[in-house]
Amino acid sequence: VNQLEIRNLHAKIVDGETILNGVNLILPKGQVHAIMGPNGAGKSTLGKIIAGDPSYEITKGDILMDGESILEMEADERARNGLFLAFQYPVEVPGVSNANFLRLALQAKKGGEVNMMEFYGKLQKALQTLEWDESILTRYLNDGFSGGEKKRNEIMHMMVLEPTYAIMDETDSGLDIDALKVVAKGVNAMRGPNFGALLITHYQRLLNYIIPDAVHVMIDGRIVTSGGPELALKLEEQGYDWVKELAVTG
Ligand code: ADP
Ligand code: MG
Ligand code: MG
Repeated sequence: VNQLEIRNLHAKIVDGETILNGVNLILPKGQVHAIMGPNGAGKSTLGKIIAGDPSYEITKGDILMDGESILEMEADERARNGLFLAFQYPVEVPGVSNANFLRLALQAKKGGEVNMMEFYGKLQKALQTLEWDESILTRYLNDGFSGGEKKRNEIMHMMVLEPTYAIMDETDSGLDIDALKVVAKGVNAMRGPNFGALLITHYQRLLNYIIPDAVHVMIDGRIVTSGGPELALKLEEQGYDWVKELAVTG
């Protein structure tokens, strides 16, 4: 089964309140899905739990990657198995160049030495797609990067690491329209039979440039409805009130 499956997932903050109330979602490999929903719905929490954030406790359900539960895996093991969490990147890593950090991450994922020619080739290709200058490679990771540079850099890392499944939380926030288009170009370049992505976003804007295969709406820690790209447009026009009604009656 080539898919990332969230199966009846219930989760709470360790020693705290329940946030997820039975999330069901299947992301087939080869597809891009969006998760939308009002503030506080639990979208970021879901992303962090998929990443293996230890501040949350799963009380019921499972997360399966290609048919295998990942719940017992630490965050770094999940990454080695092909999961990429864009927002998980360290805020700043002074003293470590961007390229070196990426080379070490790739090495950890591969479990061995990285072929430098191949690595350099991937870097060049990613930079070209993202319309970016090589000077970003020698800067310390995220040190003094603007918000837009951080987002673009996350996409660059994703392109080089070539994950099987990527979760991107609010990748669009703080981007002007040109930066947004470039980020979308990177994600679209990744699309293919061996890549699946979950785009978590509060706004429909990003989905004008990355047309999702499916859109899921989360309210109060559950997916209450799903549909095609037109669902995102409807939410943009009509807001979330009509879906909240579904959440109550459903
Ligand atoms: P969204 O991303 O959809 O806006 P979040 O997942 O960030 O929603 O948050 C869902 C709810 O859970 C919010 O009410 C938020 O305050 C709460 N929450 C999430 N994580 C924590 C945490 N670590 N500590 C306290 N409250 C949290
Ligand atoms: Mg929020
Ligand atoms: Mg959020």
